[in-house]
Amino acid sequence: MTKKYYEAHKKELLEKARKHYLLHKQEYFERNRKWYRKNSAKVLASQRLYRELHPEVIRATVKRSKRSLRLEVLSEYGHRCICCGENREPFLTIEHIGGGGEAHRKSVNGEVYRDIRKQGFPRDKYTVLCWNCNCATRFRKICPHKQEEKCASVLSVQS
Ligand SMILES: [Zn+2]
Ligand SMILES: [Zn+2]
Repeated sequence: MTKKYYEAHKKELLEKARKHYLLHKQEYFERNRKWYRKNSAKVLASQRLYRELHPEVIRATVKRSKRSLRLEVLSEYGHRCICCGENREPFLTIEHIGGGGEAHRKSVNGEVYRDIRKQGFPRDKYTVLCWNCNCATRFRKICPHKQEEKCASVLSVQS
């Protein structure tokens, strides 16, 4: 088949190939599987070699996907500290309502964001705090922001 012929009949040829594929799907599948079984050692070895030669590419890919997952989860929860309104991403963290963050981290091997997405972003279990408010509310203490609000409202009542 010449290139010219291919270009002129591209549409029909693709359609023919697609029909052929649909009719013989199972055979294609079998052939692929056989090929893979025969070459799996080679494929795995070349993947391993690639990983060894380009650890920075792998690291960057992992980092990118982790970051986009984190952004997705934060934005689902409003991307804003529910205490002070901080909305700059590096300051934000997911808060486990009612505690249990450490146990959760352990139970999902550190993949907290992935797990929250898997659960469908339940509003009653997680929310967003900034690191400041997160630290301040550890051990069930009240965040200074809230304390100030309380003081302010008490003062305004008194005056
Ligand atoms: Zn805050
Ligand atoms: Zn706060």
